[in-house]
Amino acid sequence: MSVYENVRHLLQEIPENVQVIAAAKTRSLDEVRQSIEAGIRHIGENYVQELELIGKNLEPAYRSQITLHMIGHLQSNKINKALQYCDAIQTIDSISTADKINQKVQNFRSSPLPVLIEINIANEEAKNGANPSIQEIVTIAEALSQMENLRLEGLMTLGPWDHTAEELRPYFKKMKSFFEQLKTLNLPNTKIQTLSMGMSDSYHVAIEEGASMVRLGTVLFGKRT
Ligand SMILES: *Cc1c(COP(=O)(O)O)cnc(C)c1O
Repeated sequence: MSVYENVRHLLQEIPENVQVIAAAKTRSLDEVRQSIEAGIRHIGENYVQELELIGKNLEPAYRSQITLHMIGHLQSNKINKALQYCDAIQTIDSISTADKINQKVQNFRSSPLPVLIEINIANEEAKNGANPSIQEIVTIAEALSQMENLRLEGLMTLGPWDHTAEELRPYFKKMKSFFEQLKTLNLPNTKIQTLSMGMSDSYHVAIEEGASMVRLGTVLFGKRT
């Protein structure tokens, strides 16, 4: 099936209140255009280089229809370039990185930048993300609520790679619990509405466990080569 057909199919299957991010790493500009023509309104990129490719080359008629999310780890030396091209960052995992971003946002946009806190939900050594403890999340969230150029909107996680969807379920449940606790804090300058979790192999389970946003690559674009 074509990208266009895959996207149409997927958007029909997924509940209307769940947003779909097309995870576009390694995909061509033409594949990205096709996904937008089929109804995708959120694109995610892992690397600043690929954000730039889209930011520079996607025609305004397409670009204006989408929100472009940074969904990969952001290195401090690439913050300027990321801010130049993206509309939201899902991978905030420390107060110090958030602080650096906060100081630069106004050079690129006039409204606060929507951000999510990335959680290393299985506490894996090799993964980025904040520790999976409510104390840690509250500490970061409180700091973010003081940063006037950022607006905290929720949480994001990747989850362990080598797990089946069912094995991921307990981690998704834990994320949902953190998300609900974050909401009840009622922190100023936040709008807690996004729980970003689930990918091609796990999005069904993630949605059952409360994801409001899923990030899909393979099921939309085919296998990465
Ligand atoms: C690649 C990627 C996805 C999508 O992965 P698929 O398994 O191809 O659906 C989602 N989120 C992030 C952060 C990714 O890097």
